[in-house]
Amino acid sequence: MAEETIFSKIIRKEIPAEILYQDELVTAFRDINPRAPSHILIIPNQLIPTVNDVKPEHEQALGRLFTVAKKIAQQEGIAEDGYRLLVNCNAHGGQEVYHIHMHLVGGRPLGPLLIG
Ligand code: 5GP
Repeated sequence: MAEETIFSKIIRKEIPAEILYQDELVTAFRDINPRAPSHILIIPNQLIPTVNDVKPEHEQALGRLFTVAKKIAQQEGIAEDGYRLLVNCNAHGGQEVYHIHMHLVGGRPLGPLLIG
């Protein structure tokens, strides 16, 4: 069993976060250290530590990360100008929290910005 991270506590609302969306599969909340005007994390409710741990049974939840990203980008008013979706994996990818998360960043031209 993988060890829970702070993100599981955010999903269960045991610690505060600005949650923008939650359903039975995924949760989206603002990053505590935003690197752009819009910086949101979208995560599966089930703990999957890294992309290396992804299994076929996770496809529904991981697919939903994209439909929720699209919805939130529209809500944030950044859909037309554009934005970036990013998933870091392990040390070389710059992953700090071992609960898969999709970064949604936008609200300004991002240039070669990397999050990690
Ligand atoms: P990673 O480097 O693992 O891809 O990204 C982890 C992200 O989680 C970072 O952008 C970091 O700012 C964010 N983060 C870490 N701890 C918290 C927290 O307690 N609350 C929120 N909202 N974001 C967090």
